[in-house]
Amino acid sequence: MYMKNTIKLLLSFIILLVMSCDSSSTSYSMNENNGNDNENGSDNSNLPVGFTKFISEYTDVYISGDYVIVESQGLPNHPSPYWGAGHINYSSPHNGMSVNPNKISSQNFKFYIPISPSPTNSVSSTPLGPIGVSISGVPFYNQYAGPNNQPLDNEIASFDIYSGHPQQTGQYHYHWEPNYLTSNGDESMLIGYSLDGFPIYGPKDQADMQYPSDLDELNGHNHVTDEYPDGTYHYHSTSTVPYLLGGFKGKYGSANGGGYFTN
Ligand SMILES: [Zn+2]
Ligand SMILES: [Zn+2]
Repeated sequence: MYMKNTIKLLLSFIILLVMSCDSSSTSYSMNENNGNDNENGSDNSNLPVGFTKFISEYTDVYISGDYVIVESQGLPNHPSPYWGAGHINYSSPHNGMSVNPNKISSQNFKFYIPISPSPTNSVSSTPLGPIGVSISGVPFYNQYAGPNNQPLDNEIASFDIYSGHPQQTGQYHYHWEPNYLTSNGDESMLIGYSLDGFPIYGPKDQADMQYPSDLDELNGHNHVTDEYPDGTYHYHSTSTVPYLLGGFKGKYGSANGGGYFTN
């Protein structure tokens, strides 16, 4: 009897092992650093609370000088048609979706987010390409589709059910609320950071779960949040333009001592 149970236990352990090996090789890729240290030898024990909200399976987050660095492969933590048929995370297009020809591909992002952002007098406009990073490591893009600030209108039909899509080099990104995150959390949660160092929240305020009515033209305002008990400037996602942020309130670009990214 005892032997039988031991064998049973061993067997289930082996099955578990096989399953976990299988999922790590075919499913989402994982980063290995979830502890207080990482391969760069940097320290993340003093991370500002907001940065502890990043999902550790998809991101490495640590402090380096005046920046919090977020490393990620930019892969969504949810199904999408853009994984490509046959991929374990493939899902068929939703009704009315017009799938673009691009496929999700792994990136080598390093986002340098200023650890102590402060509002500047002159707002900088956001560029095309990544303008921030979600807590799952997928980049945020601005409200435009391409050169000369073409509106997103024609691209929206190519968003998957979680409001993301890849561009020509396979960079998956969100132009607005990452609704896989907010549907698993709530609409007032911290969804990521802008490159200028200010946090971005879902469409509602945490205190009253209402849509804020006093956002400035950048989609921002200033008050206390769960992550910033002393208050901070922050952006909210909105269902209308600019969707995430209408420009950088803080410093942007390494030449200005602001945030930037490499890939
Ligand atoms: Zn896009
Ligand atoms: Zn707010």
